[in-house]
Amino acid sequence: MRQYICRNSAFRGFGQSRAWHIRNSTFARSYLFKRYASTSGSSVTKKSLSEILAGVIKTTGPISLAAYMRQCLTNPESGYYINKDPFGAGGDFITSPEISQMFGELVGIWILTQWMAVSKPDESRLIELGPGRGTLMADMLKAFQSFVYFNKTIKEICMVEASPTLRNMQHKLLCDEPIEVTENGYTSKTKYGQPISWYTDLKHVPKDNCAPFIVAHEFFDALPIHQFEHTQHGWRELLVDYSIPKVETPLSLPNQTTSLSPENPKFHLTIPAYATASSRVVPSSSERYSKLPIHSKIEVSPESWDVALEIAKRIQEKDELGRIINAGSAIIIDYGPADTIPVDTLRAIKSHHIVSPFEEPGSADLSADVDFVALKDVALDQVGIDVHGPVEQGDWLHTLGIGARATVLANRQSSQEGKDRVAKAYSRLVERSGGAMGKIYKVMAFTPKGSPVPVGFGGEVAE
Ligand code: SAH
Repeated sequence: MRQYICRNSAFRGFGQSRAWHIRNSTFARSYLFKRYASTSGSSVTKKSLSEILAGVIKTTGPISLAAYMRQCLTNPESGYYINKDPFGAGGDFITSPEISQMFGELVGIWILTQWMAVSKPDESRLIELGPGRGTLMADMLKAFQSFVYFNKTIKEICMVEASPTLRNMQHKLLCDEPIEVTENGYTSKTKYGQPISWYTDLKHVPKDNCAPFIVAHEFFDALPIHQFEHTQHGWRELLVDYSIPKVETPLSLPNQTTSLSPENPKFHLTIPAYATASSRVVPSSSERYSKLPIHSKIEVSPESWDVALEIAKRIQEKDELGRIINAGSAIIIDYGPADTIPVDTLRAIKSHHIVSPFEEPGSADLSADVDFVALKDVALDQVGIDVHGPVEQGDWLHTLGIGARATVLANRQSSQEGKDRVAKAYSRLVERSGGAMGKIYKVMAFTPKGSPVPVGFGGEVAE
């Protein structure tokens, strides 16, 4: 999750995320990719996302929460991520890489140790899912400059990013050369001369003999979720519906009301009397869900399963004889319970405040807790790799050496203010009390079957 800063109080807490994926949705196909416009005379008025969503619901009936989230976050015209930079004090939330360079540096060091653990392949590909402003990648690349042998193996950097605005920010931060359009995305060169490409989906990232090292920091919490409830009549999916508020005009007589026209629909969750296709299939897909008693609620993200599967397949590629022909590693850092199913965790953050996810669709960041066990199950059951963790971020950063790094950085500061800044960033990343980041953020690693236990999960640096 992200962190948000509650401006009206001294409290600095933790915030949340976003979501999307626009594929496989009848709703998206039939409506949302069409340009909604109403024409009156020669003037064309673009409809708001609220009006578009209300139009869809009016036609198809209530929609899944996943479809709603997807549109709020990545609708090509009005999705939350599409046109804005949501990070930092002036944005809606802040993330670990934005708090301190130490975070990206240590993720980079972990990748270096994994490159050693998978026998130092000659060619590597760095892949980041949801790179935000590009800060984490910038800090990793900088750290790699001190590890010349590994650095030389990096043949390409691949960024998986759905937002054109953030893609441009990443390019500006990481590159001096212009960005060019390619068949599948965009390409340029980093300041260090490495080829760098942008894609909107991990599936488009090339697969060849380069060992993939994949980072997903606060990516999974942005993927759409479904909510289900086990009722007396079976599992039901919570759906998004809307109503049009009625207002009384100043001149109206008792009982006379005037409907606001559909530009002001109010969205809310509803539980239908009928089963949906998802409610028939998803809760019965695992005993983790199907065995839950009546009145249980769950959040499930099949889109996250797809991404976890793709990651797992990439870090352990096999030939027809089942021999591993390409080995890499992946690190997933996000917030969510280590061993339980998320329940009622959907959140919206706007200007560092928690708001309703149903207010002004597209204006707030939406996120939900990541179900680490579900990601782990996909990787173990469908690909048979090794999965480590999740462990708490604070512990993981400590094992990677954040204490020593913070001391070095603090000593380099000439002012007390600078030293305090480093100390504060350090505490913010590792602190475990209450709902602090060091505890609620979890780290999980995917490694090829039988490779050494990674650093931060009980293992040592491989020779
Ligand atoms: N990792 C960054 C940003 C986290 S915000 C950090 O920690 O600072 C989430 C990021 O994921 C943003 O860059 C957002 O644009 C991207 N994103 C969210 N859903 C995505 C999707 N389905 N496909 C590609 N990128 C996505």
